[in-house]
Amino acid sequence: MSKLRFKVVDTAFKKKAVDVPNSKERPSEYFGSYVFNKEKMYKYLPSNVYDKIVDAIENGHPLDRTIADEVAYGMRKWAMELGVTHYTHWFAPLTEGTAEKHDAFLEYNGKGGVIEKFSGKLLIQQEPDASSFPNGGIRNTFEARGYTAWDPSSPAFVIDDTLCVPTIFIAYTGESLDYKAPLLKSITAVNNAALDVVHYFNPDVKKVSTFLGWEQEYFLVDEGLYAARPDLLLTGRTLMGHESSKNQQLDDHYFGNIPTRVAMFMKELEVEAWKLAIPAKTRHNEVAPNQFELAPIYGEANLSNDQNLIMMSLMRKISRRHGFRVLLHEKPFAGINGSGKHNNWSLGTDTGIILMAPGKTAEENLRFITFTACTLMALHKYDGLLKASIASASNEHRLGANEAPPAIISSFLGKQVSSLCDHIINSENEDIIAMDGKQGLKLTIPNIPELLIDNTDRNRTSPFAFTGNRFEFRAVGSLANCGGALSVLNSTVAEQLIDFKAKVDARIAKGEAKLTAILEVVREFLIESKNIHFDGNGYGDEWIEEAKKRGLDCENSTPLMYDNLLKQTTVDMFAKVGVLSQKELEARAEVHWETYTKKIQIEARVLGDLAMNHIIPVATEYQSKLIDNVYKMKGLFSQEKYEKMSAQNLELIEKIACHTAYIQEHVTAMVDARKVANKIDSIREKAIAYHDVVLPFLDKIRRHTDKLELIVDDQMWPLPKYRELLFIR
Ligand code: ADP
Ligand code: MG
Repeated sequence: MSKLRFKVVDTAFKKKAVDVPNSKERPSEYFGSYVFNKEKMYKYLPSNVYDKIVDAIENGHPLDRTIADEVAYGMRKWAMELGVTHYTHWFAPLTEGTAEKHDAFLEYNGKGGVIEKFSGKLLIQQEPDASSFPNGGIRNTFEARGYTAWDPSSPAFVIDDTLCVPTIFIAYTGESLDYKAPLLKSITAVNNAALDVVHYFNPDVKKVSTFLGWEQEYFLVDEGLYAARPDLLLTGRTLMGHESSKNQQLDDHYFGNIPTRVAMFMKELEVEAWKLAIPAKTRHNEVAPNQFELAPIYGEANLSNDQNLIMMSLMRKISRRHGFRVLLHEKPFAGINGSGKHNNWSLGTDTGIILMAPGKTAEENLRFITFTACTLMALHKYDGLLKASIASASNEHRLGANEAPPAIISSFLGKQVSSLCDHIINSENEDIIAMDGKQGLKLTIPNIPELLIDNTDRNRTSPFAFTGNRFEFRAVGSLANCGGALSVLNSTVAEQLIDFKAKVDARIAKGEAKLTAILEVVREFLIESKNIHFDGNGYGDEWIEEAKKRGLDCENSTPLMYDNLLKQTTVDMFAKVGVLSQKELEARAEVHWETYTKKIQIEARVLGDLAMNHIIPVATEYQSKLIDNVYKMKGLFSQEKYEKMSAQNLELIEKIACHTAYIQEHVTAMVDARKVANKIDSIREKAIAYHDVVLPFLDKIRRHTDKLELIVDDQMWPLPKYRELLFIR
């Protein structure tokens, strides 16, 4: 066992360091070359077809099915010029990744040969077996039909020899079975609601888009070492492993020099991303050793989210070409920082206004504070639901671990925006709105300095921070599909915008001036949502106490967080904005509980196996060696000397015996706890049992295997250690 490990380590570090290649070709020359974007559409589609599809993409008008054949023909022609032979509907079921099933363009031509074909019918709709994907009971196996339907707003792209067509995935009865369908509906909902509100200020606006700029954190480990860690391989995280003597305490990794091997990986990743029109922009070392980040330029949320999904699969693929494995798990290593995926989120108009950005005039700032107030109200009313939208078995390890926002939703606004809010809350309308000669009403809203996007006014401990022209939802996990969190965020904000508009209109109907009415409702919203606003240190224990006093949702248990999906207020809110039905919410809650249970179940099994089959035998073998040594010493020395010299070893022998006994006993107890939990019928109760009863065993057992790691001969230890996994050479 130990020999194998050292062989692996050996080859892993022998890889020759080659310099990062610099191609002469400019990114601008090949950016988007593997994407069927507008430029390609223009070239490969007849002009009337081009107009119709651009209209569908840009204005969300339903696509004319009669043009599907022509689009499919043009797409295939373009793809075949890139050597493509296959096509697939590419979708994001309620699992961690994306799904695809490749079919060749190949068809018999009726003359004894074959030709390449791709029809409009195949482009628009296909029928994968819905029961094989998590569906929360919506599709039973005997009525397994579900279908994928083309999403023209996200362009088709080519990966290797396959044309990938982004699609939504829904049940035959119409329920969403994926992340994209609700995301698209939530984008529409927020567009409709925001348009109504923005028209108070800018009547010429025709469309409000949701923008997303994600920041993907990840770890890299050497592939050889990864292969020698069954826990990483099967669960994505290390279930045991003592802290390395050095990890991140010197703060020498963040923004440090990127190791050459890693830089080569990043370079290839970026080039492949650029070919797929993913605007990868920023790369840097993160806080933990071997931890890195990649961020693109933000874009329309549905597209940007698809790009994140593509990016995660590119990372998985390209890392292997460089002898690495990428870890997207939120907490692959205990004791060092985990990975998140900050979702920078804002709303913007077709006329170029970012609605979450302060402006130059008082009226622009009133617009800004209107959208901010609605966002804060959404957070205030649905903090538990928003938390549920980012909750998972893996993210549970990261939240509240003194490195990531706690499991409490609050919003940081910064000094200037906070004082603007206070000003509005504390002054009478007459103070803010003054009569100004012929111009009528004039706002005296204090100006916000333009250079707000300033690092000094940032709070890294907030799960939902205002950062100048956007909110940064930081609690999202690195592994997550951002669609989950964004659908909830968009929907709740849409609902608040609808309420806002109704309240303002009611006041106007009673004869109140528009600006006065807006200000009154803004003030009302700011006062009501005050509890959610917190600019202090989110990592401190005082905050937890304070948050409890404020009545914020402080639930720590992931399975219980999912209860928020089924609250009547949630069901009503989603129905009002038309994003998810009660049936869909029930199905989603079920999928969450089931996934949670399975994840802990797998971890418990892997840990049990590692402990019993890898650790205990090795610890016992080492212990036997020590016992042997003690016996042999006895014959060599006088009783007095012998007793003195063997004391240490006897102590170690005893320690090993204690640890192994503890581990064996607790592995057995963990198996029993699992058996009890597995018999529970209710999916929710089962998940709760896995959280409350099974999960605590993992840490308890680990504590003792980690102690053994410090005692047992390094030559014999069967798993690569943290110090080997975490420092790429
Ligand atoms: P940080 O300093 O927070 O680590 P990064 O530069 O890593 O910032 O990432 C910030 C992300 O926010 C980028 O993807 C950027 O394009 C995006 N972003 C900037 N402005 C907006 C906006 N108005 N809406 C959404 N995303 C934005
Ligand atoms: Mg960043």
